[in-house]
Amino acid sequence: MTRVFNFSAGPATLPEPVLRQAADEMLDWRGSGMSVMEMSHRGKEFIAIHAEAEQLLRELMGVPANYKVLFLQGGAIGENAIVPMNMLRGRSSADYIDTGEWSKKSIKEAKKYCKVNVAASSEEGGYVRVPKQDTWKLDKDAAYVHICSNETIGGVEYHWTPDTGEVPLVADMSSNFISRPIDVSRYGLIYAGTQKNVGPAGVTIVIVRDDLIGQALPITPSAFDYKIQADNDSMFNTPPTYTIYMAGLVFNWIKAQGGLNAIEANNRKKAAVLYDHLETTSFFYNPVAREDRSLMNVPFKLRDESLDDAFLKGAQARGMVQLKGHRSVGGMRASIYNAMPIEGVVALVDYMKEFEASHG
Ligand SMILES: *Cc1c(COP(=O)(O)O)cnc(C)c1O
Repeated sequence: MTRVFNFSAGPATLPEPVLRQAADEMLDWRGSGMSVMEMSHRGKEFIAIHAEAEQLLRELMGVPANYKVLFLQGGAIGENAIVPMNMLRGRSSADYIDTGEWSKKSIKEAKKYCKVNVAASSEEGGYVRVPKQDTWKLDKDAAYVHICSNETIGGVEYHWTPDTGEVPLVADMSSNFISRPIDVSRYGLIYAGTQKNVGPAGVTIVIVRDDLIGQALPITPSAFDYKIQADNDSMFNTPPTYTIYMAGLVFNWIKAQGGLNAIEANNRKKAAVLYDHLETTSFFYNPVAREDRSLMNVPFKLRDESLDDAFLKGAQARGMVQLKGHRSVGGMRASIYNAMPIEGVVALVDYMKEFEASHG
């Protein structure tokens, strides 16, 4: 068996020890005589798996007691509608910060449910930075302020937490969730799909302050009403049981690494290997403002785009896959989530040097 270094933006690489444990437990989960996939979500085994996953996540992130942790379906794209349905709370408009492709999608969808005020945008200049907070035109009557904390396609990340005063801050954290410690109490709501940093696709994690729920629009499907799901321990409908189990294994793996402080240190080290190299060469480049560069998704281009295919082919031959950039921006993108070992990043940079030497 050979495993590749998989730089996919999502679904993405998972920690090998987690996959091994899942394989060991596949046919018989801890003496139950069943695979987790075969368990009733109402049975004591799965209830314990679910409770442990939630407990571990609360512990890793330091989620305050007045926040609900929900394991839902619909993905972050589903949340683009589910958030306004639940969070308008009698108000008619919401503020959105536009930092790239994912913010744009959120804005477009929210417009079906409310008036959207784009309080700041970095579109001018091609989405290569996070607009400074002193340029934001926030509305004090907005229901919430929505940000995308890490633009997976553009490779632009917030390295600070906006201050939105009394107006709840809502963040799509899909691609930098649990990549470093954050202060959950600064947010009204955090949502993230699992397939970037948490596990297989299938679960959307929602962390929401409990005073903000219970006022969903009447049209909200019950399965997407945060209050109904919170009152039912995320089991108003059948949850994606296997993904929740896998998420629990990943949370345990993070805990064993030393928690989110250790994960952040490792992520910084990995990103530095790649960004430091990009600083030393003009053969490759990354257009993002230095202070806003993502630690998770590193887009880069070859100055000579006619070499793109040769670069990708050579990478593939060396066991490095999924480096092609998103179709909307082209070039390359290396996604280096928590589970990407530093060896993968070092191998990539070694290959970039070798490729430049033979084509430069
Ligand atoms: C991947 C991603 C999404 C889309 O998630 P789906 O699971 O396809 O709904 C949304 N936002 C961000 C920031 C992402 O990285």
